Amino acid sequence: MSALDAARPGSAPRVNPLQRIWLREIGMERLWLRPAPAPAALPLAAPAATPASAAAPVPSAPTPVAAQPMAQPAAAQPLAAPVQPAPPGAVADAPVERAAGRPGVPSSILNRSGPPPRPVPKADIAETAPPPIPVAEAVKDANLEQLSQQVVACTACGLCQGRRHAVFGQGAQPTRWLVVGEAPGEQEDRQGQPFVGRSGQLLDAMLSAVGMSRERDVFITNVIKCRPPGNRNPKPEEIAACSPYLMRQIALLKPERILVLGRFAAQTLLGTDATIGSLRGRIHQLKTDEGAQIPVIVSYHPAYLLRSPSEKARAWQDLKLAARAL
Ligand code: SF4
Repeated sequence: MSALDAARPGSAPRVNPLQRIWLREIGMERLWLRPAPAPAALPLAAPAATPASAAAPVPSAPTPVAAQPMAQPAAAQPLAAPVQPAPPGAVADAPVERAAGRPGVPSSILNRSGPPPRPVPKADIAETAPPPIPVAEAVKDANLEQLSQQVVACTACGLCQGRRHAVFGQGAQPTRWLVVGEAPGEQEDRQGQPFVGRSGQLLDAMLSAVGMSRERDVFITNVIKCRPPGNRNPKPEEIAACSPYLMRQIALLKPERILVLGRFAAQTLLGTDATIGSLRGRIHQLKTDEGAQIPVIVSYHPAYLLRSPSEKARAWQDLKLAARAL
């Protein structure tokens, strides 16, 4: 190592006599031999490891920066995005939590104390939903207006899915005759009224022939209140679901007699599978839940009479039987 290499900060470099003479020749002796100033600061680069520093314990893990309180310079930008002024008329959003990597979550949810609510299992919902009230139970205290509203809103059988209108019935009160058909047809389903179209016109003419009027004396309804698709025969479960409406109508209207039109309505109301030929021409008795007995007369459906005009004579006999039945 030369004397130049051996120079240390704060002390004059050591030179040999020949070096000193040469420095004097070039006028650098005083400058060179002047003690070097001490460094103002430690060098940025880490010093070479000394045996002492090598033996210093090494931290097992760095301290998380987020846990250290950090002094922010005055000009430092905030971590959160600056709030843009809302345009005029805009509705202010709920405060939104942007920290902790959960953008978009309302702080009202994040700040909620306690555990999050337990999702309600579907099984629990099914158990807590009230069971549907059977039709017979729902109608037992209803007046006629309430009964009509129940029919319009009824979903007790599948016929509700294809109907345009549930057909409750129409007619006079007090009621002398209750006329009962099978179920609404296409026109009845469209208009929400019973016995409309050609069948209805023929029925009105038949009633008029014995001095009866739809507006003054007769209430007209059906066993089934909603139209079966394609005018098929109602299914037993549909009859069972719907018949409480008819029985409640009979209990409320208290007709003097009942004229049943068609095989299906007659078999349903009288609880028999006998043919219409064996049921017509005589007076049956319907015993109500209140203990009253109402005369029942069976005849052909007007739609059948339109297809079989020769049967109108028998229908006329049925009407005369109904007119004198007591
Ligand atoms: S047919 Fe009778 S029981 Fe069925 S949905 Fe209509 S009103 Fe209700």
